[in-house]
Amino acid sequence: PKDKINVVLLENISENAVKNFKNAGYSQVTKLTKALPEEELIQVIRNCHILGIRSKTSVTPKVLEAAQKLQAIGCFCIGVNQVNLDAAIQHGVAVFNAPYSNTRSVAELVIGASIMLIRRIPDKNKAAHLGIWQKEASGSYELRGKTLGIIGYGNIGTQVSVLAEALGMKVLFYDVETKLPLGNAVDARSLKELMSKADIITLHVPETAQTKGLLNKNNLKYCKKGAIVINYARGEVVDLAALRKALESGHIGGAAVDVFPVEPEKNGDSFETPLQNLPNVLLTPHVGGSTEEAQQNIGEDVSSKLLNFLEKGITLGSHTVPGLSLPPQEGAHRILHVHRNVPGVLSQINGQLSKYKINIVGQYLKTNEEIGYVVVDVDKQLSQQAAKLLRAVPETIKVRLLY
Ligand code: NAD
Repeated sequence: PKDKINVVLLENISENAVKNFKNAGYSQVTKLTKALPEEELIQVIRNCHILGIRSKTSVTPKVLEAAQKLQAIGCFCIGVNQVNLDAAIQHGVAVFNAPYSNTRSVAELVIGASIMLIRRIPDKNKAAHLGIWQKEASGSYELRGKTLGIIGYGNIGTQVSVLAEALGMKVLFYDVETKLPLGNAVDARSLKELMSKADIITLHVPETAQTKGLLNKNNLKYCKKGAIVINYARGEVVDLAALRKALESGHIGGAAVDVFPVEPEKNGDSFETPLQNLPNVLLTPHVGGSTEEAQQNIGEDVSSKLLNFLEKGITLGSHTVPGLSLPPQEGAHRILHVHRNVPGVLSQINGQLSKYKINIVGQYLKTNEEIGYVVVDVDKQLSQQAAKLLRAVPETIKVRLLY
């Protein structure tokens, strides 16, 4: 019954999420504005079925140990590294997030920064604030007709590509994987080719061992004189000391950087980067994806993933329980069974059900290295008995019966 399901949302999660749960009939929704430290979270989690967090709540193995009723964690943000995923796997707890909700926000700001930099607005803005009139056309350009080089043609890179073409830019991209070029974009095939042809270079790669220092003193020299560099990806991707040198020498004509190797913990903390006090440089405090729309999208996206899991057992997008897309359980009751992935569990399940003559209306299975997720739709009259049989199967981690 829905009024027995406790939903706890920490860290001031968007009202969209609260509304979605209430509209779906879940009345026990507790919303807190802050993150909880481990000890307090352990108390709260004992009686919690669904936990919503953002980036400041650590879900440790100790927390998960106490989370006997917990079915799923929704990370209302982009990353999931605040949750100990190994422990969540061992406890069969599904973990969802919203990896794409702020894509558009980042892409728009990259275009905005490109326009500002190619017109050398940071310098003119600074002068105007200092009471100096600095009207000039030389060294200012339109984006139209210029070449944008996109490194990392994933969710954000492709969005930037579409917006840039709409403004009349030529797009070159470079990715380690083969990607379908959108519109008239062209695969540069090598980083060197992209860097030597682009007027503006923008990075949209993840943080990996391979992308650390991807732009560095050895390859910044391939850039055209006056090229602009934009990093809205991750702090370690550009060697900032090398970028500073290239900006000082004028080889690089401007830069916009939103992400840094070390970022302050909270607002008001002091912050240092080698890129301070240089001409034509836009520095922002990791706000590429920070918009009201992105927050709303995140609230919407993660709460619907949690509701789909609660009501239908759908685990698409889960980082722990294997992802299954499922049809509605029409005319049947659905049992969700998470187990350690060793040979023979499925035959045990089917053996038990057939032994007691419980008809299987539908069955779905997905496994990862550690755990398996079986969904069985059975006759309504026999569902309680079937769930009991499945609970007794060796290697079972979690069983839930949906009506
Ligand atoms: P994505 O996974 O969709 O795309 C990344 C792309 O980079 C993939 O196509 C991948 O194949 C490619 N790639 C990986 N390694 C590469 C390499 N060595 N060289 C070239 N290409 C490589 O990711 P996304 O959602 O587009 O996000 C891109 C980046 O933006 C991530 O680092 C993410 O953390 C960051 N991000 C920043 C903000 C912000 O506020 N500034 C907001 C959201 C995302």
